[in-house]
Amino acid sequence: MVERLLRAMSPGAGLLDFLVLFGVVIAVIVAILLGTGLFFEVMNARHPERKVQKHRVNSRKWQELAYAPGSILTLSLCFAGGLFAQWQGWGLTPWPLSWWSSPLLLGISIVLYDAWFYWVHRLLHWRPMYRFHALHHKSVAPTCWTNHHETVVEALLNQLYYFVIVFVLPIPWQMLVAQKVYDQISGMLGHAGYEHFASPLGRSPWPLASTVFHDQHHGYFRYNFAHTFSFWDRWMGSLHPSYDATVASFEPGSADRQVRQG
Ligand SMILES: [Zn+2]
Ligand SMILES: [Zn+2]
Repeated sequence: MVERLLRAMSPGAGLLDFLVLFGVVIAVIVAILLGTGLFFEVMNARHPERKVQKHRVNSRKWQELAYAPGSILTLSLCFAGGLFAQWQGWGLTPWPLSWWSSPLLLGISIVLYDAWFYWVHRLLHWRPMYRFHALHHKSVAPTCWTNHHETVVEALLNQLYYFVIVFVLPIPWQMLVAQKVYDQISGMLGHAGYEHFASPLGRSPWPLASTVFHDQHHGYFRYNFAHTFSFWDRWMGSLHPSYDATVASFEPGSADRQVRQG
């Protein structure tokens, strides 16, 4: 198996080599899902005061996992496809790893994916396309398991990024793996339902999106469409008006938080 995986990494590899790579990607994604999910189950149980939507309970959280196989197979196919295309020399030749260019390309790719995600998400909220996204919105109060509660079409539209990017950006595959790991964990963080990591970095004037960000997308439906950053929503006027204040209320030392805990 290792031999086949190594063969997939050089030009001239065959279908079996790709299938081994596909299997390895699936196994890693499932391991991240279980590890991150367990982490949030423990954290949420320990800190009930950090729940974002105080009075809503998601009683279907385990049923939502029934859609995880379709979602994971689709995203793994896109991601393994991107790696394989680059290794076969079909895409742009990646720049060699270096201390300055690799983090730079990773940063560019994270910004590009955020734009991709924002516009695909806006498209999915367009009436003719919404039937592919309605399933995901059945969770009004998301849990980390909601991350994979989606149709195959929705997963494909979002995750095609990881196939297309190797034809657009000369990003080394190691950076793409780092981005995918981050993407999987941050996707679950965004659905955690509990704001564990509130900080000024997650609100104005900083661009990062906190857990509250995507939680409000599920709770209010019409706001906060982006993934990692809040700037697309700020520019396009789709940021929830209470977003910044809600994040601030979860920060250590906030008066609101003391009231909530008291
Ligand atoms: Zn949505
Ligand atoms: Zn969601």
